[in-house]
Amino acid sequence: MVTDKEERPHNFIRTFIDEDLASKRYDRVATRFPPEPNGYLHIGHAKSICLNFGLAADYSGLTNLRFDDTNPVKEDVEYVESIKADVRWLGFDWDDRLYYASDYFEKLYECGERLILSGDAYVCDLSAEEVKAYRGTLTEPGKNSPYRERSREENLDLFRRMRAGEFEEGAKLLRAKIDMASPNLNMRDPALYRIKKASHHRTGDKWPIYPMYDYAHCVSDAIEGITHSVCTLEFEDHRPLYDWVLEKLNWPEPRPRQIEFARLNLEYTMMSKRKLLQLVREGLVSGWDDPRLPTMAAIRRRGFTPSSIRLFCDRIGVAKKDSWIEMEWLEKAARDDLNPNVKRVMAVLNPLKVSIVNFPAGDPPRIEAPYFPDEPGKFGHRELFLTPEIFIEREDFMEEPIPGFKRLVPGGEVRLRWSTYAKCVGVEKDGEGNVTGLKCEMNPEPVGKDAKGKPARPNIVHWVSAERSRPVEVRLYDRLFTVAKPAGDLAGELNPDSLVVRKDARIEEAVNDVSPGDRFQFERLGYFMADPDTAAGDRPVFNRIVTLKDSWAKGAAGAAKGAGNQGKRDRKE
Ligand code: ATP
Ligand code: MG
Repeated sequence: MVTDKEERPHNFIRTFIDEDLASKRYDRVATRFPPEPNGYLHIGHAKSICLNFGLAADYSGLTNLRFDDTNPVKEDVEYVESIKADVRWLGFDWDDRLYYASDYFEKLYECGERLILSGDAYVCDLSAEEVKAYRGTLTEPGKNSPYRERSREENLDLFRRMRAGEFEEGAKLLRAKIDMASPNLNMRDPALYRIKKASHHRTGDKWPIYPMYDYAHCVSDAIEGITHSVCTLEFEDHRPLYDWVLEKLNWPEPRPRQIEFARLNLEYTMMSKRKLLQLVREGLVSGWDDPRLPTMAAIRRRGFTPSSIRLFCDRIGVAKKDSWIEMEWLEKAARDDLNPNVKRVMAVLNPLKVSIVNFPAGDPPRIEAPYFPDEPGKFGHRELFLTPEIFIEREDFMEEPIPGFKRLVPGGEVRLRWSTYAKCVGVEKDGEGNVTGLKCEMNPEPVGKDAKGKPARPNIVHWVSAERSRPVEVRLYDRLFTVAKPAGDLAGELNPDSLVVRKDARIEEAVNDVSPGDRFQFERLGYFMADPDTAAGDRPVFNRIVTLKDSWAKGAAGAAKGAGNQGKRDRKE
């Protein structure tokens, strides 16, 4: 079980729990995470997982993992396994408390008979369309079903025959007998059981009838002794039904208490299972684990750590009102989590060759550079090699600099990270005028002067030796959509730059034997993790997890200003 050091903020759910413990309604806390095994989990589910497991942990309680497998048509064991893996990856453990709503099918059926016997449920023969028509609207009451007054004996007989498989799909329903005029549509004789001639991934063909979610959920919670049944806001209007079922079953106290919170909406991405499936099906992303997606599989592959996701979930907290969370929260959590834990190394993503014209004869100078400059003892040192040919980032040179550009320009100087100053003394071009390389002079001290005649303080750029670096592929991931709150027009709203692949990037020689999952900070560029593809190809593949700074906050118009900010950042090094 995870115990995070950062104290979780107080929230309204904890207030409820505190009240319930103080009033002795419960003497312990038990929560559950109840996924339906009909798709892959996403970061919204992570919020629910962290909340349920986190609440229980804070009160020394327990959390069950329960698969809500009441709809055999959409569910699959493949999803069961992936959901279990995701919960474990996040750092949570349900010990031996792994349950399935289908474990309770017999008990649920028995409760159905009890509701019939107490006069609270009846078998209805209306067709799906008729049920809908009889239901009424928000402004008009519904109409009683003509089957509502069947005798208990007849209802019991019909329900038993439904179970025996005598009727066709859709021919009958077991319905709660509540109130067709209720202002809450969920209380207008909702269905409790339907006929479905489908094979279930756990119970096979044993059951031709399946309980509805609203009925199965509260009874499952009650069977497991859940105290606080935490769910998302859309179930608020279902709470009266949740309580009604347990009341009519005369379930012994203390019964579980349903509490709703606002689901996570994250900007620049989307959580809809249907839309995610469409992205995958239409090949707009490479699969369920495409690192641009908000699925847990994708988040893992991109390189986010479980602790960064927990940190994110703790920081955003829980609210009672729907809202959108800025992507920056997730990125900030990733940076804060990775910052103290990974080595800094140098890589060049878009290499521009630099020939050093005054390179001294003899062995290349050796440079000892700490892997973690703030605390050099932390991860030790590695050796860097300055050689007659090096690579710098193409973006760190501008032949005709835009205003505010503070890096290398013809005749200008920069400092090579951990090494000498370099002055640009020549620009090489191909026949079309594209810059193909630079000539630089190396100097132990800057040679230029600033406007006041003092020695210049050139900005620092990262570099790698041409000879003593190795090729790597780098995949730069960015936000999936160009709009903060995508409306669902996938083609129009997808960010065409959400993936940029640099196949000819280079990394310093010290980074060898890269295994999938290895994480680094590439200085000035961001945090990166070696992708599983590393194992298959001839060169390591790195995914960018997150940049070092929020580059979106400034917006597109800030691009030129961004170059200036980069300058400030450089000097700080
Ligand atoms: P669907 O209703 O289409 O099956 P779902 O996302 O609700 O999708 P579930 O498997 O039912 O999927 O969800 C499991 C749990 O995760 C539920 O308790 C649900 O409330 C919670 N959950 C789902 N999406 C979010 C979200 N975006 N934020 C917080 N919790 C969520
Ligand atoms: Mg759901």
